[in-house]
Amino acid sequence: MSAHSPATGCTDTPVLRERGQREVFCGLTGIIWLHRKMQDAFFLVVGSRTCAHLLQSAAGVMIFAEPRFGTAILEEKDLAGMADANAELDREVARLLDRRPDIRQLFLVGSCPSEVIKLDLSRAAERLSAAHGPKVRVLNFSGSGIETTFTEGEDACLASMVPALPTTEAKELLMVGALPDVVEDQALSLLGQIGVGPVRCLPAKRAAMDPAIGPNTRYALTQPFLGDTHSALQRRGAQHIDAPFPFGAEGTTLWLKAVAAEFGISPETVDQVVAAPRARAEKAIAAATETLRGKRVFFMPDSQLEIPLARFLTRECGMQAVEISTPYLHTTIHRAELALIAPGPTISEGQDVDLQIDRVRAARPDLTVCGLGLANPLEAEGLATKWAIELVFTPVHFYEQAGDLASLFARPLRRRALLAASHPNRMEAAE
Ligand code: SF4
Repeated sequence: MSAHSPATGCTDTPVLRERGQREVFCGLTGIIWLHRKMQDAFFLVVGSRTCAHLLQSAAGVMIFAEPRFGTAILEEKDLAGMADANAELDREVARLLDRRPDIRQLFLVGSCPSEVIKLDLSRAAERLSAAHGPKVRVLNFSGSGIETTFTEGEDACLASMVPALPTTEAKELLMVGALPDVVEDQALSLLGQIGVGPVRCLPAKRAAMDPAIGPNTRYALTQPFLGDTHSALQRRGAQHIDAPFPFGAEGTTLWLKAVAAEFGISPETVDQVVAAPRARAEKAIAAATETLRGKRVFFMPDSQLEIPLARFLTRECGMQAVEISTPYLHTTIHRAELALIAPGPTISEGQDVDLQIDRVRAARPDLTVCGLGLANPLEAEGLATKWAIELVFTPVHFYEQAGDLASLFARPLRRRALLAASHPNRMEAAE
């Protein structure tokens, strides 16, 4: 692992900005992990059969209980303006809430079709909140693929919640970002041992546990794609804790130290508390590093996790980054990460997919992190790939998951090495 230095790293690296065709999932995808996290929420997509199919296939076989998401399908007569879509939406919502008395929060989720016909879901949410509140709070956000990448769905959802949260003057830590329960529990346990508290989470598991916000709230993001939520919290007067993200042993330690400092707790106290889990994480990362060390990685823009993950792979796993590309570069929330990445890689924002594929072909990296749609064609050209979406669906934050995070990148390289050993002629043909 490289030493943490006060150097500015890639902070001043000129950013290559591209605004061409993009290949990413839409923001509806976030509903898959959000509905598991928020146990009394329901996500009602106001969209088309395509939207319903996307959700069904993404959630797939994982639904064992009655799902907490659905699609109110806009039919042709709605799209043609021949029916009152608002009246139909009100009827659907009333029927849903009648059938599901456990629902406390209802999110109306906009899609490409609802945006195209300019259905005003914020007014619908106000109207439906008045009709079904205070028992049920109705909010809205957009998951439309016209403008959003897949992790922006979570950002838009959390940002829609912030204005409705109650007010407090208490000094509390707000941990922001939907983490799997087991990971959230680990983080809360570490923070408790360090002496940080009280700690609240956004999103909370249930509406009754929603945090309050005020000028003494200190918030730390656990996901690098929460730019709008960050702005909404700033508007409520909450104070951001600037830190790298809790990926890997180093990132987790720096995140915890930044949080601890806000609560007057020394870095030495953090070091004492985290010594054992940190050592476990470093050992687990070292096992995967045998495969990763010296390999070149190219990030295409997809999950918005690219910058922190490039920092993790270059500093803790010995990889070399060729290009680190992200859909959006949030300078405020990525600053601490960029400062840790050694100068050298191209930093790019947005995508012009053909131009970027040309750069991948020219660089021939050992590993390309990209969306599902690009992975197969690149594999066919003899390039190893990692699906970015797996990084969002797999628990990867904090110490206990650090080894799994490194392994996710090592696996395609090992598979390719095995294939090359067993079918040398076929691999040559592909390359
Ligand atoms: S929101 Fe748009 S991109 Fe997403 S599934 Fe629906 S139609 Fe497709």
